[in-house]
Amino acid sequence: GAQEGEGAHGGGAKRRGKGAAVDHRARARELRAQREQLPVFGARGAIVREVRRHATVVIVGETGSGKTTQIPQYLLESGFSRYGETAIAVTQPRRVAATSVAKRVAEEVGTALGARVGYTIRFEDCSCDKTQLRFCTDGLLLREILSDPLLRRYSVVVLDEAHERTLRTDILLGMLRDIQRGRRRRRQLAAQGQPQGAGAHTRFGDDADGAAAGIGELKIIVMSATLDADRFSAYFDDAPVLYVAGRQFPVTTYYTVAPQADYLDAAHLTVLQIHTETPSTSGDILVFLAGQEDIENVERLLAEAAAHLPRAVPRLLVCPIFAALPQAQQALVFEPAPEFTRKVVLATNIAETSLTIPGIRHVVDSGVHKVRGFDPRIGESLLVEPISRSSARQRAGRAGREAAGFCYRLYTEADFAQLPEDAVPEIRRCQLTMVVLQLKAAGVDDVLGFGFMDAPPKRALKHALLELYALEALDDRGALTALGRWMAEFPLDPSYSKAIYASRAAGCTREVVDIVALLSVDSLFYVPADKRDESNQAQAAFRSRDGDHLTYLSLLRAYQAAGGDKDWCHEHFVNRCAMRHVLDVRQQLTRLCARLAIDPAQSCGADLDPVLRCFLSGFFHNCALLQPDGSYRSLNGSQTVHVHPGSALFGKKTPAIFYDQLVFTSRLHARAVSAVDPLWIAQASPKLYGRLASAAP
Ligand code: ADP
Ligand code: MG
Repeated sequence: GAQEGEGAHGGGAKRRGKGAAVDHRARARELRAQREQLPVFGARGAIVREVRRHATVVIVGETGSGKTTQIPQYLLESGFSRYGETAIAVTQPRRVAATSVAKRVAEEVGTALGARVGYTIRFEDCSCDKTQLRFCTDGLLLREILSDPLLRRYSVVVLDEAHERTLRTDILLGMLRDIQRGRRRRRQLAAQGQPQGAGAHTRFGDDADGAAAGIGELKIIVMSATLDADRFSAYFDDAPVLYVAGRQFPVTTYYTVAPQADYLDAAHLTVLQIHTETPSTSGDILVFLAGQEDIENVERLLAEAAAHLPRAVPRLLVCPIFAALPQAQQALVFEPAPEFTRKVVLATNIAETSLTIPGIRHVVDSGVHKVRGFDPRIGESLLVEPISRSSARQRAGRAGREAAGFCYRLYTEADFAQLPEDAVPEIRRCQLTMVVLQLKAAGVDDVLGFGFMDAPPKRALKHALLELYALEALDDRGALTALGRWMAEFPLDPSYSKAIYASRAAGCTREVVDIVALLSVDSLFYVPADKRDESNQAQAAFRSRDGDHLTYLSLLRAYQAAGGDKDWCHEHFVNRCAMRHVLDVRQQLTRLCARLAIDPAQSCGADLDPVLRCFLSGFFHNCALLQPDGSYRSLNGSQTVHVHPGSALFGKKTPAIFYDQLVFTSRLHARAVSAVDPLWIAQASPKLYGRLASAAP
């Protein structure tokens, strides 16, 4: 899918004047005392010593003990990065964490963000070639390997939040281990006076400039918030494990007596109960929900209820936090609530370990999260599923950071006992098309034999290989084609890069890139709790008969015609932050196209059929046909697919549709749906769906 949602530009350093340097240092001095209070401070000497001694070190510590913000600084202070030569990379599974932590660390170091300390995430780079501490997403570092196979610019890579075992963290673990060994081998050969490349790992063999640069050892630091560090240690040749003692106050846990039919309802009632029955001075409330939709629903419920609270009850300040939320709003979460106000933070599992929110004493745990699921018959979908026991403990722990706290689980104790101890690593349950393409592009030919920490299911790997073959990124021997190499240059799911590729011949790169950028954000429209109908009506103005892809395009055109005007956005319920982000993404993609010899200005004018056909050349596996009973059935898996209620095609019947992604809630919902001619599907992928051409009337 369009992957993680993305916040708008936080920007920073470059806009501030030079005179601010003094302030940076004053602020850093202020923060110094706070830093020294953190539990990890006591382990500073031991950490630095172990990292000097060993190639890989595993560090385990409670959330909030200071791992993410402090350890990279210790390494910086101890000279692990050489100014202008090498840097320390710290990877995060989430964009929000990468940006907000970078901001905090820049403050603590006393430098402008983007100078000595910076971040780089997809479509957004706030760093320079002098940056010594770079926070980035794990996906971004994976992409860097494509252009810098030995990651020469880094002396240390800190893999943070490793316990989450996201797909990209797992791939990165394998790649980093290879790179560490590759660099070691290089050094040994250089020491023996042997020519570089001879006998070296084939993947790095053609990297000719060799030892000239005097390649150093790659230090790897794996950081985790849970105790199961042995597997990481074993994976890295029995690397030492350091434990940082945490500081945790007791948390009293409550369960519901009976299972709750509707956790959203239960969540908002629990919040109101806490708020009315405990004084607001007893601390803020953090609610864990599955995703953005949940959060918006509970926000609405709370807004309605808050209007009817007695005067004497302090106000509620609801702060949502999820990946797609604009950065300015994300920052609100970290601000203390004003007087006579209690903060209620509505979060996804982003707040479970990667962000520490101050002031929380009450945690409400819905017991669910959203995970990627993969079924070859359906493709990838997002599923709302029960969390693991270890997640439930992490969530409860958030209430006891500053003082004794309370955790309200919206499920029964018996249900808790039934939960799996740990979540299944993502690599075992998601679509692998993009990472297989990346592995191939990084020179890993034998993907099935790659040294995964947990091997993905064979059928998922095979499915990815087949899909890449159908997309013509691999040839029939499984080798990367020229097109595949080209597609791997894009930080996009291969389906999108294929669509962009197709737009060259079709002469509509401008439109296709616009739409790809539009699909990269979750909510283009803003739907206030009390104005759903008005918002719906405003959206109708942009609707295209052909579906959502072209609807989004007409929205973008109207937004541009209005010059991105604030009032215009307000009037049309358009999410201005999201639109600005779309423009950022579009600009990056446009540059990439120009670099890869595609004219990004090519436009097809008024006839937009070619645009949909380009998308189809990447999304032929996301098609469904209208059945005699009026339902849609997916072509690749014969599943019944429902058009999402927010879609322009909701309630409409058309012979065939294709969609951007499937979301599984109570049933399979297709999001971002467009109408197509079945014949086009046959033409987009004759190998798979040629039969549709002969069946057509
Ligand atoms: P860990 O990685 O071990 O979970 P962190 O390094 O993220 O711990 O956080 C350590 C402490 O730094 C937190 O307890 C919090 O007090 C403080 N902190 C981190 N980020 C911020 C921020 N953005 N604003 C204010 N304080 C922060
Ligand atoms: Mg952390």
